[in-house]
Amino acid sequence: MVTQPRAIEIVQRCEALFDDLHFNAVAQWKAAHPGAKAIGFMPVYVPLELIHAAGMLPVGIMGGGDSLEVIQGDAYYQSYICRIPRSTIELGLTGRLDSLDGMLFPSICDVIRNLSGMWQMLFKDKYVRYMDVPQNYQDEVGGRFYIEEMQALREELGRLAGREIADADLNASIRVYNDNRAAVRELYAYRAAKPWQAPTSEVYLLLRAGMVLPVEEHTALVREYIAEVDRLPRPKRDNARVVINGSFCEQPPLALIKSIEMAGCYVVDDDFCLVGRWLLDEVPADGDPLAELSKAFLHRSASTAAKYDPTREEKGMFLLKQVKSRGAEGVIFAAPSFCDPALLERPMLQDVLSRHGIPHTAFKYAENTGQMAPIREQAGTFADSIKLWSAA
Ligand code: SF4
Repeated sequence: MVTQPRAIEIVQRCEALFDDLHFNAVAQWKAAHPGAKAIGFMPVYVPLELIHAAGMLPVGIMGGGDSLEVIQGDAYYQSYICRIPRSTIELGLTGRLDSLDGMLFPSICDVIRNLSGMWQMLFKDKYVRYMDVPQNYQDEVGGRFYIEEMQALREELGRLAGREIADADLNASIRVYNDNRAAVRELYAYRAAKPWQAPTSEVYLLLRAGMVLPVEEHTALVREYIAEVDRLPRPKRDNARVVINGSFCEQPPLALIKSIEMAGCYVVDDDFCLVGRWLLDEVPADGDPLAELSKAFLHRSASTAAKYDPTREEKGMFLLKQVKSRGAEGVIFAAPSFCDPALLERPMLQDVLSRHGIPHTAFKYAENTGQMAPIREQAGTFADSIKLWSAA
């Protein structure tokens, strides 16, 4: 019998979790933890530490992907809107999310805000919360607001769990998530250093596994993948190094990520599944936990179109830093069709890149986009043009 290299086994396991739209891994976790609850959340970021500290499993619901047929979900939304709310409704109405005891809807855009209201009406027996985030980055203003939001969530989750969530529980969970964030940072640094060893189609599946696996298991899996994939003989190609921007909410199909890579691009940074990478460094785990989580959000978090930039000067600076720190040669703007936040921000980001002489190209997708030839051609032409310019 031929045995697979361990790195490939890990990727296959992650792909099986990714393909499972019935979230059997969640049902299995609940069976192994009688009485424990599972709480779903949507992109982009929620403080997972609060769910973990309540003894619950956080479950990232990133839409229905390209294999889910949306039938009922289309009746709830107009056609000129992105697909993730419709596929999420479809997942709910078809019973695929029955193992979840609640859902958190972070403040991303009006679509998600509306979806949280629909969820309250459609699933009256489930816990539902719309999580607002600060639009002001002063600790005494936006910080105070955000701490109150988290405190309300903490109390509600405590009631659901049947016990109070103590500061010590939260600090222990912050430590666990600090470790996970460190492992994912290691993965991203490894991919940027050796993108031929850790293709983004694999890195992405590892991120998605983190949406359903217990965090401790995910951290170990990420570290094992890095160690194992480094042993595989994989060819190094003369590909263009690119950053993908705009995919922070509705996720692109896996085939689209593969197409970009096959077209001659190494993706060296991206904004997929940001939740585990939203806080950029270690959160102190020996102080007031909500105050520390708030400070990390206000002062040391990632940036997307769904997060308010207080000044025009700050717009695009996070992306610029990604490009420079990862040694990228260009940016691919890949955003969901009808995604107001990403598509409204795009011209401002393009302007910043153009001023810095960084090549960029742009297209739109839906999570069920099936026709990859145009995207492959566009990404391939972009990669070729980068190689021509950099050789000049
Ligand atoms: S894809 Fe864009 S418009 Fe649609 S829910 Fe997400 S952030 Fe909102």
